[in-house]
Amino acid sequence: MTSLYGLTRDELAGELVGEPRYRADQLWRGLWAEGRTLAEVTTIPRAVRERLAEAHPAALTPVEEVVSDRGGTRKWLFGLGDGATIETVLMHYDDRVTVCVSSQAGCAMGCTFCATGQAGFTRHLTLGEVLEQVMVARREARPARLSNVVFMGMGEPLANYAVTVGAVRRLAGDVGLSARHLTVSTVGVAPAIERLAAEGLPVTLALSLHAANDAARDELVPLNRRYPLERLFAACTAWVERTGRRLSLEWALIEGVNDTDAALGELVEFAAPLRAHVNLIPLNPTPGYLVRGSAPERVTAFRDGLVARGVNATVRNTRGRSIAAACGQLAQVSRGRRVAIRGR
Ligand code: SAH
Ligand code: SF4
Repeated sequence: MTSLYGLTRDELAGELVGEPRYRADQLWRGLWAEGRTLAEVTTIPRAVRERLAEAHPAALTPVEEVVSDRGGTRKWLFGLGDGATIETVLMHYDDRVTVCVSSQAGCAMGCTFCATGQAGFTRHLTLGEVLEQVMVARREARPARLSNVVFMGMGEPLANYAVTVGAVRRLAGDVGLSARHLTVSTVGVAPAIERLAAEGLPVTLALSLHAANDAARDELVPLNRRYPLERLFAACTAWVERTGRRLSLEWALIEGVNDTDAALGELVEFAAPLRAHVNLIPLNPTPGYLVRGSAPERVTAFRDGLVARGVNATVRNTRGRSIAAACGQLAQVSRGRRVAIRGR
């Protein structure tokens, strides 16, 4: 069954046959622009709402909620209709409120350091399942206003290409989020980066680079064997030239692996010609990859080294480390308690 959020405007109107035509506008506006639940769109007669709710039940069932940063970070484990689980994280910052959404249940890319990669692939999410994560988070964020959406939860968004692009379009169009505040993170599916560049979507692209020599990246990110750095660099060049947008490079610092001076030099060579911005984050340890994130002093020194060589770099705040914020980690530890969240 399709989530209500997976329907196009025409499909939704089609569900309201026999009702006055303005009902479709009321419902569409209520759900998307106003961010109400179906039950809250009280301009629609109750019987109609009940019929819709039966035909299109919520796609996400909250299984577990973990709160940290004194409520500033909330992470949910959601069950899907077929029993698969995904994670969604809501983060309040001083200047923005961001939701991190999953694009797949699990992931087929097998990055060695990633809890989701260690668990393997279950399936692609539907458009409705991706959008419902955003709409639930938007309601939960109140009274703060959800401003940013990042595709950095479970899964590889560019492997679920049509859904990712469809979601970005809907969020920019119907939800009215500024497209500058939408970020798609990819492990480096080179042809899909080029395809995305041609879509004309003003979305920010983040590439999870983590290593800038092929031998090291082959180990961390198996997809590198298919699209090695030279191929990836060509795709990034196409992205920058075609979109004129800044590229972000994600670099999870791993002690003794990619935090050395040699690794720094390689990163500068990759990032500088692209004028890319580097986001540094110390690796979050996972059970399947027993190395450590770099110590805070090394993280700072690495950043300073980049900046000294003309590369923009910031250290990302590791939100919710205490609640296992890196993708896939809550799914690993969940006890499967069911929880209730607001607005459902
Ligand atoms: N598949 C996409 C998006 C989801 S992963 C991608 O790989 O980009 C989101 C981010 O979390 C990626 O940058 C990924 O490299 C990073 N990540 C995964 N496991 C991590 C860990 N244990 N510690 C720190 N970052 C991690
Ligand atoms: Fe998949 Fe991204 Fe995890 Fe790699 S880091 S396994 S691409 S979710």
